[in-house]
Amino acid sequence: MRCPVCGADDTRVTDSRLASEGLVVRRRRECQSCGARFTTYETAELVMPRVVKSDGSREPFDEVKLRAGMLRALEKRPVATESVEAALERIKRQLQAGGEREVPSRLIGELTMAELRELDQVAYVRFASVYRSFQDVNAFREEIERLQQERP
Ligand SMILES: [Zn+2]
Repeated sequence: MRCPVCGADDTRVTDSRLASEGLVVRRRRECQSCGARFTTYETAELVMPRVVKSDGSREPFDEVKLRAGMLRALEKRPVATESVEAALERIKRQLQAGGEREVPSRLIGELTMAELRELDQVAYVRFASVYRSFQDVNAFREEIERLQQERP
């Protein structure tokens, strides 16, 4: 790999280790010409299924949009960024696990709610209220009641 500082071709890997539960390889490199040190991250490129919206239209899976939706629900909640990223990874892996080329947007919503429910109940209710209000008000009310009953 080329040195990002001086452009020399000859850089050496000085350290290599796994990060993020083994999903990322982190490498420390050093340029043999100028001595610059930098880090590279290697991750598998996951081919995500396309998303089928409720009106039948298709769109590419949008991780940025999904993360933004989760972070909006988690605003000012005591949840670590790392936990959010791990939840995102789990959602992506579950979407791929089926091996389908297309998945309904509803499935992404359900998986996201399941993850948020584990992370933070306030965030879960926020997300569910936005997500479900377009579909079924009663389902949301039942969900709130179920949460209240579960509370110890
Ligand atoms: Zn260099």
